[in-house]
Amino acid sequence: MSRQRGKTEKTSDMMNPQLMAGKFLRCLFRKPGKTPSEIQVEITNRCNFNCPMCQRKELGVKDEDMPFDLFEEILLKLDNPRRLILTGWGEPLIHPDFCRMVQAVNKVYPEAGVCFTTNGFLLEGELADCLLKTRLEQVSISLDRLPGDEKVSTPGHIPAKKITDNLEAFLEKRGRDNLPRIRLQATIQPGSGDTLGEILEYAAKTGIDGVNLVRLQLPFSPGLVRPSQDEEKELLEYAGRLGKKLGVQVDSVRGLGPLLLLATGFDTFCIRLDDYAYITVDGGLAPCCNLRNHTAGSLRDSDLESLYSAPAIRDLWRSLGNPVCRQCDSFRYNYAGD
Ligand code: SF4
Repeated sequence: MSRQRGKTEKTSDMMNPQLMAGKFLRCLFRKPGKTPSEIQVEITNRCNFNCPMCQRKELGVKDEDMPFDLFEEILLKLDNPRRLILTGWGEPLIHPDFCRMVQAVNKVYPEAGVCFTTNGFLLEGELADCLLKTRLEQVSISLDRLPGDEKVSTPGHIPAKKITDNLEAFLEKRGRDNLPRIRLQATIQPGSGDTLGEILEYAAKTGIDGVNLVRLQLPFSPGLVRPSQDEEKELLEYAGRLGKKLGVQVDSVRGLGPLLLLATGFDTFCIRLDDYAYITVDGGLAPCCNLRNHTAGSLRDSDLESLYSAPAIRDLWRSLGNPVCRQCDSFRYNYAGD
């Protein structure tokens, strides 16, 4: 069976005026759609790394995979998604059926974009070859510094040479249409200007499509240190200027633009809620990965539309009163609490 919704996103969402106009209006009037078109699936919470900034332990996440049968069952309950993000609190490539899952999405929803975020360590051999034969929209690789760059000793993903080797081989083999897009994801850490500069130069040299700069989330990992807001602003301005010079797109939580900032009531509403849902490893529907323990119910027993209109989701559209949201600034312009 094949289900479709719209065209595959080949450019970033921010460059799609129709998509952005819909988002702007829903957020401005706090009117969620009937069903979300962007779905993230927690296909596994097992990981081959143990990064200090990862919140798996704090969230009490168990090391387990979503069975392939459940994944297939869930796929059929979606409403022609525009995009599926196959990433939970673990390393997606560790799932023994990962490539089969991408193939299943391609078959059921041929027009849907499929994305995932990986640490890149297992992006090699038969698995990489299998993935290159599927239709993937985007692969994001977490890389906080390049191998050999020890200037910044703050926590980050392991900067192993094997990862950059895998990444370069994958880039080399991808199709002439330059799909999947390959992006790097780096955390913004105090004093990390040189490190971010090296990552951007590496991206330009190797033909990587963009770099996403993300915040460390202190409420979940209180031992971490992040830059002051002023330093974060300076780091992002510097990265933006360098990205322009090098021809590398740089995205960050501060890049929403004035219209979306207005639509979110200047940080009083979380844009992550719009047109998006997170499905946990056992089929629960949650507002986002940080709220995986606050599901509206399970897709095993209910349909997407009923769960998406349940109070666990809709109450957040009225107020971010949930204690997790109050402390979270993953998708806010300013730091929470400042
Ligand atoms: S504020 Fe954070 S926890 Fe709350 S919905 Fe947004 S991303 Fe999720």
